Amino acid sequence: MEEDGSPQTFKTLGLKEELVESCEILGWKAPTKIQIEAIPFALEVDFGYSKWSFTGKNFVLAIGVGKDVIGLAQTGSGKTGAFALPILQALLDAPQRLFACVLSPTRELAIQISEQFEALGSVIGVKCTVLVGGVDMTQQAISLGKRPHIVVGTPGRLLDHLTNTKGFSLRTIKYLVLDEADRLLNLEFEKAIDDILKVIPSERNTFLFSATMTKKVSKLQRACLRHPVKIEADTKYSTVDTLNQQYCFIPAKHKDCYLVYILNEKQNFTTMVFTRTCESTRLLSLLLRNIGMRAIPISGQMSQDKRLGALNRFKAGDCNILICTDVASRGLDIPSVDMVINYNIPTNSKDYVHRVGRTARAGRSGMAISLVNQYEVAWYMQIEQLIGKKLPKYPAEEAEVLVFFERTSDAKRIALAKIKESNGNKKRKKGGDDDDDDNEAEGFAVNTKKSFRKSKRR
Ligand code: AMP
Repeated sequence: MEEDGSPQTFKTLGLKEELVESCEILGWKAPTKIQIEAIPFALEVDFGYSKWSFTGKNFVLAIGVGKDVIGLAQTGSGKTGAFALPILQALLDAPQRLFACVLSPTRELAIQISEQFEALGSVIGVKCTVLVGGVDMTQQAISLGKRPHIVVGTPGRLLDHLTNTKGFSLRTIKYLVLDEADRLLNLEFEKAIDDILKVIPSERNTFLFSATMTKKVSKLQRACLRHPVKIEADTKYSTVDTLNQQYCFIPAKHKDCYLVYILNEKQNFTTMVFTRTCESTRLLSLLLRNIGMRAIPISGQMSQDKRLGALNRFKAGDCNILICTDVASRGLDIPSVDMVINYNIPTNSKDYVHRVGRTARAGRSGMAISLVNQYEVAWYMQIEQLIGKKLPKYPAEEAEVLVFFERTSDAKRIALAKIKESNGNKKRKKGGDDDDDDNEAEGFAVNTKKSFRKSKRR
């Protein structure tokens, strides 16, 4: 609310007409909580940092840049807009190529962020380049050669280009964003991030955004933030009220059967199923396809082309079940997701918050069901502690669930045989991919659909 009690709009937050229009085109009627809280600070100019500098010809007065921001907001709360809109506004004020750099821990999230920048910046013709691993570097280098306004990437590939792509540098950037900052500050990215920080200007704005934060953020805060404003749009680690969360306590040997039962009960839903390992994404999707369900795997073990292909098929509704590892738990925005199933309980409780954040996004409702076996109870209890809620039990009659047991076991046996066979083929071919899984399982599904229905009737 504004001081006079009227609701905030993108205009009252201080955004220019062009950007207000972009929000309208995207159907964003009003700013979200994190946008209301972060955008005014991110737009603010801190004159304390104004200084004279010599360009080689003249002395110019560089007016201080906006405030640094640490934004803690639930996933799906409009975080991307909260940092993209102020950057686009600054770009409008002082148009310049290679203006901002956004880092993301996953390739898919980087692509999504770039799409949102291009959508919000379409009326002003903003150009983005995405630098992620698993894709040809030459194409990316050509795109960098066209000098985009915004570079969005994963740390490793960005560093690769900074080191090897002739003529590319980030020496001019005015904004650095770390999205999913707590993950980017993990050990796995530490070296790359440190190296990137060494070659970008210290005179810049830095935005850190995440749904969960570690103490490491304060380390980075010391290292490169200047008088940051910390904005917590929500209490730490909370999950949204429109999310209906339940658990199901079951013996390990019945887990597949419960999964099949729930997916069958909710067959009209668009569902993401989270597993712990890349291998199990493949096994489970084959199992489900053998039963006649439209499942597709996505994991870090697949080539980037296949990862994107799987994501696109899922987004397009071609497959309604995405079986994934935590590679898909951060930031991905697929509004159609109705349900998240935790096939394995994450050992790191914060991953739970990210996983279930794939549904019930932007005010919609959604469901999250955690399948907890006897070995996972301790991890599950940690999750309840973290989110500060005791969750209700998913209502399922064991006798009804076990009707699916025989069919599920058969489908699993066939899936395992298929994996064994394709691994053998791969060894013989020395390399290769999991390409065949899709088609062969699909063929089988047609044959098994009938018998699955039969076993249900039994
Ligand atoms: P994010 O948290 O940035 O991943 O955004 C989640 C979803 O909310 C995306 O689909 C955005 O397009 C959408 N969104 C962001 N801001 C708004 C807004 N102010 N009004 C409606 N939808 C929004």
